[in-house]
Amino acid sequence: MMADIDRLKSDLIETGKIGRSSAKRIEEFNQLDPQDGVTRPTGTQADKEIRNYAVDCMNAAGMDVPNDEIGNIFGRTEGSIPNAGTVMFGSHLDSVINGGMFDGALGVFSAIEAVRVLNEEGFDNQRPLEVVIFSGEEGSAFKQVLLGSSILTGKMSIEDAYKLKNETGISLTEALENIGYRGSARRNLNDVEYMLELHVEQGPVLDAQKVPIGIVENITGLAWIMATITGTANHAGTTPMKMRKDALVAASEIISFVNSRANEMVEKLRASTVGTIGRLNVFPNGTNIVPGKVEMGIDIRDVEQQNMDQLINETLAVFKNLEKKYGVKTSTQLPITHSPTPLSSTVVNMIEKSAEEVGIESIRMNSGAGHDAQNIAEKVKTGMLFVPSVNGISHSPMEWTNWDDIEKGLRVLTQTIKNLSN
Ligand SMILES: [Zn+2]
Repeated sequence: MMADIDRLKSDLIETGKIGRSSAKRIEEFNQLDPQDGVTRPTGTQADKEIRNYAVDCMNAAGMDVPNDEIGNIFGRTEGSIPNAGTVMFGSHLDSVINGGMFDGALGVFSAIEAVRVLNEEGFDNQRPLEVVIFSGEEGSAFKQVLLGSSILTGKMSIEDAYKLKNETGISLTEALENIGYRGSARRNLNDVEYMLELHVEQGPVLDAQKVPIGIVENITGLAWIMATITGTANHAGTTPMKMRKDALVAASEIISFVNSRANEMVEKLRASTVGTIGRLNVFPNGTNIVPGKVEMGIDIRDVEQQNMDQLINETLAVFKNLEKKYGVKTSTQLPITHSPTPLSSTVVNMIEKSAEEVGIESIRMNSGAGHDAQNIAEKVKTGMLFVPSVNGISHSPMEWTNWDDIEKGLRVLTQTIKNLSN
């Protein structure tokens, strides 16, 4: 029996209403409204509703569905070989504010559908199969991304997680209790052999190349430089050009340096470097005042640590030069640094082979976005599959993936689970 796209489609359309202020059913791209996305931060009623929907599906498919202390949900199907390592697969159900209906949900409901299909086929899995729903991937409520997988891998302690508070001052403990998902199960990854996550690409590569499946080889590293440049605010009319300490003019050198150097690294080193200044606060921000202070946020990513380090260090050196050149003071901090994560070549090869077996075209690529899979990859042989995002759009109400691509993603995921489980 073939994977059943109609059943998966129905789950995604039904859950696509949850957390959408209009509660509208969206079945096609042309029904999307840029003002009307899904909002399902951890601990909200919408989060509870979509979790309940998924748990009902898993129960109906014969799975026992415990959840752990951070609200990760597990649905296990035992295998025929005792003590064989588990094949785990899934994604997350929480969303950003005003996000899209497929980010995360696609990976969860495809995982559940894969189990339903294997049950109906009477497939004899030797290894245990386990659907996982990670709690709080987006960090939209508690400002901590990849929460569930960080607890599962031990990168963060449950005590530290419970101290987190959302914008209304509610603690994570209370928020999970409110929605009935502060569980008591304890899960680690010691028995897990493989992990798979199907996700929307959230970028333009597959859509542009008209290829339905991307197999992720690396998840990029990420570093943020948060900087303050302090000059002297003064009268724009009376302060001669030679006597200024203009913080924004100094900042402009950083903006053009990061952009031109990242471009140069892409061209000369064939690097995958991206560098962005997405945050800029100018003080006092008046047209007739020489800017006295600028705060800026710089985002640097690459799949090679060496390239990230190079761009970070060169950028910090440019900050130092600004002090001499403009007489300003600079201070810099790196509050976030995640190393690039290579995914398992065994799993990458197996996804590629599985796609060939079901006659679906794939390419290898990197992920510029972070995913729970990157945490799991530190402990378990992990792979990710992407399906195309129409126009490369994600974290937006206009996020869309065509149903025939979703069907292909489901078929490759199901075939890979079969191959890894035996
Ligand atoms: Zn996601």
